[in-house]
Amino acid sequence: MRLRRGPVAQAWRSLLHRLPKVDLHRHLEGSLRLSTLMEIARRHPIRLGLDLEAAELEPLIRFTVSEPADFHRFLSRFQLLRRFYTSEEAIRRMAYEAVVDAALDHVRYLELRFNPAALAQAQGFHLEEVVEWVLEGVELARQEFDIQVRMILTILRGEDPEIAWRIARLAVAYRSRGVVALDLAGDELHKSAGDLVPVFRWAREQGLCLTVHAGEVGPPANIRHAILVMGAHRIGHGIQAIHDVEVLRLLHERNIPLEICPTSNLQTGAVAGFHHHPLPDLYRLGLKVTLNTDDPSISDTTLTDEYLFAMAGMGLQWKDLLRILENAVEAAFLSLEERQALAQRLRREIQSIERSWRLEGGT
Ligand SMILES: [Zn+2]
Repeated sequence: MRLRRGPVAQAWRSLLHRLPKVDLHRHLEGSLRLSTLMEIARRHPIRLGLDLEAAELEPLIRFTVSEPADFHRFLSRFQLLRRFYTSEEAIRRMAYEAVVDAALDHVRYLELRFNPAALAQAQGFHLEEVVEWVLEGVELARQEFDIQVRMILTILRGEDPEIAWRIARLAVAYRSRGVVALDLAGDELHKSAGDLVPVFRWAREQGLCLTVHAGEVGPPANIRHAILVMGAHRIGHGIQAIHDVEVLRLLHERNIPLEICPTSNLQTGAVAGFHHHPLPDLYRLGLKVTLNTDDPSISDTTLTDEYLFAMAGMGLQWKDLLRILENAVEAAFLSLEERQALAQRLRREIQSIERSWRLEGGT
């Protein structure tokens, strides 16, 4: 993307890369390395129904600059990706690599979400099995890299309630293994969350946190429903709140964090460009906004890129980005002690980065 180039952008990019970061909204299914997908495609061409060269796979997975922004086109990537969840080994490796890639981008705390039904369906795996495999891959990466990870299980709008209940029960059962929340994702334009409300309310009663994709491309009323009816602690995206003063007030009064993912918002057509993105306005209104990647592999982005776009494309300053990072720590689904420890650790690292940046002649 244009904003990534030029010597000034490169200098900031290098600083933002070194910045220790927090990503609260990243889908495992949107974080798969193309090289790994290609390897799987080569190994199982018949089972996948795909006979592709690497160059042919990329445009099917990755959103290109020339492609028209469209929410359903974006969601369709996930249908294709389901064919790649071919084995225990593949799923474990995908989870491992997703965490490694975050760690290499200096993400120090990651909440990684996935839909067990999506991973299980194509090959008829049990939901429990895929959760185990993902957690094993994550744990391996966590041991090898400097990153703290918590997991969120995703349920799709329109999911069979029986499967949704099973996912919710699994999330509760795996709390001791780092599952902290339940997420609702999918097509908010055509599928209501209605049937799934009891599942989410039950999960909350069991002590799980809730995050709901709402007001991404859909109306602000979806955000109100997520908070008042479903009991969401955080909102995935929520950028359409900018069009409804009552919803803005609700978010403000309850201090509900918004998990904002700028590049994804452009590709889904939710906003027309970085200069039109409501992030700076939501930030200046005092809402608890955070910056995240959503689907780094599909969007061809990193969290460093998202911070750079917020700066170069939306006019936010270094101090604003640090405030947004603090918001993310406060919004993390961690205990108070864990959040304090994370905040302290990031503060120490940031001070040292700022010291060396000044020594290098940065502003
Ligand atoms: Zn998402």
